[in-house]
Amino acid sequence: MKKTWILFFGTIMMTVLLAACGGSEEQANDKLQVVTSFSILGDLAEQVAGDRADVEYLVPIGEEPHEYEAVPSDFQKVSDADVFYVNGLGLEEWLERLVQNTGDVPIVPVSAGVSPLPIAGEEGEDPHAWLDVTNAIKYVENIRDDLIERDPEGADEYKANALAYIEELEELHTWIQTEVEGVDERVIAVSENAFQYFGEQYGFETYGIWELNSHEEGTPGQIATLVEIVKERNLPAVFVETTVDSRYMETVARDAGVDIAGEVYTDAVGLEGSGAESYIKMIEHNVNTFVEGLKR
Ligand SMILES: [Zn+2]
Repeated sequence: MKKTWILFFGTIMMTVLLAACGGSEEQANDKLQVVTSFSILGDLAEQVAGDRADVEYLVPIGEEPHEYEAVPSDFQKVSDADVFYVNGLGLEEWLERLVQNTGDVPIVPVSAGVSPLPIAGEEGEDPHAWLDVTNAIKYVENIRDDLIERDPEGADEYKANALAYIEELEELHTWIQTEVEGVDERVIAVSENAFQYFGEQYGFETYGIWELNSHEEGTPGQIATLVEIVKERNLPAVFVETTVDSRYMETVARDAGVDIAGEVYTDAVGLEGSGAESYIKMIEHNVNTFVEGLKR
């Protein structure tokens, strides 16, 4: 009985103290608060931050990050954050609107230092640099350096986490090189032409119905052009992304007389239970899907 009362008063005192500090639970937490624009950056940042920081991402899994519409809680998350990691290269077209209302939180584009590829046939840079694993390593180095700058006491931990994770990414890169060796027809056809960086690194030609999700159209002309390529190249299969409407690719597959060989992850990691919940797992899933689908 006595113990219960002590616990009871303890809880009240704690509540009073927290209230006195004007603190919500988050503010009572002195960990570094990191927010990223989308789930893939969320995973990379979590790998480096480990237990020293709380990492959240804005664009929910399953939605694409180009033309996202921020919800009120997003503004709050970013305002409360110590740092906001974005991809840059024009990915987050909604960024300007969001940060007009989020105070002076530092915005760090973690793709800094990658060599941008142009959007095929259009002006501007292709934002999907993370699909080349060697670029993801640059992202991780940028995140590591930024975290150390903001939280110097954690430097050893951030360095150790980044080192271990980069080793895993280097293994992944080597694994991809080995896996794709046996693929004769290295051509990827998807809805959004998001695999240019992947293709450049691992030797694939890439085509999309459209170039960028934010310019998404799926016009009869665009569909006919891709159908023509699939037929001309005699491709065994096409693929569809988890973050786009699959009906356009279903039309391409039907008109070209091929199968959709599977779903691939470009602009988000997979949902819990998908087997693609992390960056590494989603890349493994993609590579397995390409290798299997492009076999004759
Ligand atoms: Zn995209």
